[in-house]
Amino acid sequence: MAFDSLSNRLNKALRDLSGKGRLTEKNMEDMLKEVRIALLEADVNYKIVKDFLVRVKEKSLGTDVLEAVDPSSMVVKIVHDEIVELLGTQEATLNYAEDGMTVIMMVGLQGTGKTTSIAKVANLVKKKHNRNPLLVAADIIRPAAIEQLQTLGKSIDVEVFTKGIETPATETVKQAMLYAKEKGYDTVFIDTAGRLHIDEELMNELKEIENLVHPNDILLTVDAMTGQDIVQVAKSFHEQLNVTGLVVTKFDGDSRGGGVLSVRSITQVPVKFVGQGEKIDDLELFYPDRMADRILGMGDIVTLVEQAQEKMDLEESERAAKRMMEGTFTMEDMLSQLEQVSKMGPIGGILKMLPGMNQYADMINDADAEKGLKKQKAIIQSMTLEEREDPSILNNRRKNRIAKGSGSTPQEVSKMVSQFEKMQKMMKQMGALSKGGKLPNLGG
Ligand code: GDP
Repeated sequence: MAFDSLSNRLNKALRDLSGKGRLTEKNMEDMLKEVRIALLEADVNYKIVKDFLVRVKEKSLGTDVLEAVDPSSMVVKIVHDEIVELLGTQEATLNYAEDGMTVIMMVGLQGTGKTTSIAKVANLVKKKHNRNPLLVAADIIRPAAIEQLQTLGKSIDVEVFTKGIETPATETVKQAMLYAKEKGYDTVFIDTAGRLHIDEELMNELKEIENLVHPNDILLTVDAMTGQDIVQVAKSFHEQLNVTGLVVTKFDGDSRGGGVLSVRSITQVPVKFVGQGEKIDDLELFYPDRMADRILGMGDIVTLVEQAQEKMDLEESERAAKRMMEGTFTMEDMLSQLEQVSKMGPIGGILKMLPGMNQYADMINDADAEKGLKKQKAIIQSMTLEEREDPSILNNRRKNRIAKGSGSTPQEVSKMVSQFEKMQKMMKQMGALSKGGKLPNLGG
């Protein structure tokens, strides 16, 4: 995730401070020096870093902090609050029209993820806000943009309005607005053309569309991987258009994150959404306080629970938990639970959302963990239903067949089955325990 190295460095600086016991001006200075390096290395704008440190120092040297029982925790809180301040205090949501149709115009340079983001946001407003969206293909410059939007529209079951690449973009938009009104759509997303660089022609076209439809929101997609460039791009777009929010894409990549920390203070444009991957569901609303929690390794339980509710079938998990306690949990249940876990994304990412686990997340090799998970799934999938219900029938002949089918070795199949049997035994014993039975022998 973006912010990883910033997060590690900040954590270290703050941990060092908490090891010092008493807070003095000297160890405060040391900590501030480390925080300064952390922010600059993360590519945060230098002026912002300077102001940030002045504020943290001022607040930290206040008598409230020095006399507090646990001064270093108060400093952590001050740093946290200042990060929230940088990111924009309150979460910024979409500006829906009070009545009538809401128009959302998407702008951004080519390759930043504009088209993908339209589908992600449209899907979110449809599912979570009960809106009825229409997508308008007004990017007639990039050859495959219209087909891409149509494919994405199909995948989220949202209609795409297009007049092809021969019709000027403004004409397409005009007709789309009439069409949306006639068909009763309440939220119109306009996909506009991008360029590799900002140029006058692009801006003129975008301004024309803006003047034509007066969008409720103009969302600009910026690529987290471009660091400080985010600020420049946002500034240039905002000078010409009334950009109301940013969608920061590719946040799942290994970027330094400084651009995201700087952009709000410099341009006053809030981040509204964060793209966390290539799939439609990989989009998060941007909550400054949750992001600050994550940066400071305090985890983000709220988002984790929300994602679990969204991505996992919790009723099924509950049923599986019940079967575990009753001792009737089968390999079939295990397969369905492995599939649920896969939906939550890389294990390292999940760990980062747990308080205090940030430092361990990097020790996990996500690729290896995923490979292991896939292998386990493949082994179960290569079993017959009968074998999944009762693995004790697995003789060598069956194990060889399963190994072949799942691209593993017979030893790996045996190991997995024996692990499953151990787990099943333990579950039965725990189930008995929870029913008030006396402590059983948990060994072997
Ligand atoms: P456009 O030219 O701005 O419309 O860009 P596209 O929507 O075609 O996206 C360009 C590439 O970036 C595609 O391969 C997308 O799958 C990818 N992409 C978009 N958003 C994200 C994101 O949040 N994370 C990752 N990893 N990839 C993304």
